[in-house]
Amino acid sequence: EFAIFIPQTATASQPVRLCYQIQRLLLQPLVIDGVSLEIYTTISVVIGGNEYKTVEDVLRCADFAMSKAKKLNKRIQVFSQRMYQEALETLAIQRDLPSAIRNGAIKPVFQPIVDCSNGEVIGFEALARWQHERQGPISPSRFIPMAEESNLIVELGEQVLQQACQFMQQVNAMRAARQLPPLSVHVNFAAHHFSSMTLPDNLRATLAQSGLAPDQLVIEITESMLIERPAESIKRMKQIKELGVKLALDDFGTGYSALNTLCQYPLDIVKLDRSFVLRLMDGQQGEALVRAIINMAKDLNLIMVAEGVETEEQQRKIKALGVSEIQGFYYYRPMPAEDVLALLEQAR
Ligand code: C2E
Ligand code: MG
Ligand code: MG
Repeated sequence: EFAIFIPQTATASQPVRLCYQIQRLLLQPLVIDGVSLEIYTTISVVIGGNEYKTVEDVLRCADFAMSKAKKLNKRIQVFSQRMYQEALETLAIQRDLPSAIRNGAIKPVFQPIVDCSNGEVIGFEALARWQHERQGPISPSRFIPMAEESNLIVELGEQVLQQACQFMQQVNAMRAARQLPPLSVHVNFAAHHFSSMTLPDNLRATLAQSGLAPDQLVIEITESMLIERPAESIKRMKQIKELGVKLALDDFGTGYSALNTLCQYPLDIVKLDRSFVLRLMDGQQGEALVRAIINMAKDLNLIMVAEGVETEEQQRKIKALGVSEIQGFYYYRPMPAEDVLALLEQAR
């Protein structure tokens, strides 16, 4: 990694032209010990004046544009004013994340999972939400990766787990008093959390503390978490199942070795990714693929939950293919705990 400093530029496009020149020069094959090497580079450009107070400020912005370039697969990326705003927001979120986790500012909302044969709610997925003081609600797709990078993910995951178990136990105690069957709660686990040494003990403690029946808890993991270290994953999955807790494979179909995963691992539930539900709508081929997957899951005695069902037509097609459990905006959006209580009260 190199930094190039240009004290003054005549025009805004001059640094970019310089970047092209540098890249062209570096592309000339380099022969070392008879091996010809081609060097590809990514360059980020920060153009500015007094808004930057320190060298570190400039380098941080360059880093930010660099990660953007790599994400977008670009060779040159100029840091823009919009990126500056985004970078400031990201920095603020990163800075506030540890205290948000510790102060309980991140709470789960609950999205119902519905039995589409009778429309009844059979469980919920707990989804983390952060209500930020200044920036308003922040999506988990933004703060979960940050928590993963900074190793806060285990703490965050434990908190969501505890809150989800406590709430579902409260719901189920109310239902038991009315002779209604208990409902289950799904909780998402990140790779780090899933493989953490303390997980089995923590799970046992959380279940005991909340009083939730272990078979009402479902842990959602993704394919990529299993593939990296299959033997260890199977061991960990068995430990979880020994506690009576169930396992679901989330976002099924977005990974690589898809079908293989279903046979190899001790799973209870498969969540069919929303992209498959969308493919159902693009005609014959899509439908044949989804039907094959659904039939295979059935043969393996796995329960299938279809994710991201938004329209009546999607619901009808999924139902016709024999999937009875649906989670999607067609039925319900994720909702806070109070709304869950109101919904269940209403259903009564
Ligand atoms: P996921 O586990 O696959 O969760 C389903 C996501 O799809 C949720 O997004 C949900 O709001 C959204 N969704 C549900 N039904 C529909 C629909 O009909 N249409 C569309 N377009 N979307 C629908 P959300 O809440 O933004 O969460 C995004 C992802 O963040 C989750 O995907 C999960 O991977 C992760 N996540 C959320 N909470 C946690 C958590 O507590 N821990 C960990 N490790 N990850 C979490
Ligand atoms: Mg999930
Ligand atoms: Mg999913």
